[in-house]
Amino acid sequence: MISEAMTELSLDSSFTFRCAPGISCFNLCCRDLNQFLTPYDILRLKRHFGMTSSDFLRRYTAVHTGPQTGLPVVTLKPKEKVFLTCPFVVPEGCLVYENRPSSCRIYPLIRILSRSRASDEDLLRFGLDVIAEKIRQAAGEVEDEA
Ligand code: SF4
Repeated sequence: MISEAMTELSLDSSFTFRCAPGISCFNLCCRDLNQFLTPYDILRLKRHFGMTSSDFLRRYTAVHTGPQTGLPVVTLKPKEKVFLTCPFVVPEGCLVYENRPSSCRIYPLIRILSRSRASDEDLLRFGLDVIAEKIRQAAGEVEDEA
């Protein structure tokens, strides 16, 4: 277990996942936004809207300082403060689907990159977002597997 919010997966792990209009949890995972953007995410999104990088960053993002690295971290600004909804979600789905950020592309998987202090090697692991699983179960969309 990586944390209470996710379960670590191995290369042999399997899971089921389906996302489509009509499913009762459709769009719920685009709330409670904590969406980090990579430079490539920003490039794709600003091109999607035909905006300059400066205009895109000013309108849709917030810039923070990484607490351990001191490096800038860019996140999407939610469009409202109650549910922290993504600025790009509409009732029909994702407005930027073909250019959505990389973390949305692999959802409900989560990448964890860490560096071993002992060997100084990078370690890439994957986890399954347990919160997403609970949302779907609460919405009655996940059947118990036999
Ligand atoms: S970019 Fe699209 S898929 Fe990602 S959180 Fe926003 S609406 Fe959802």
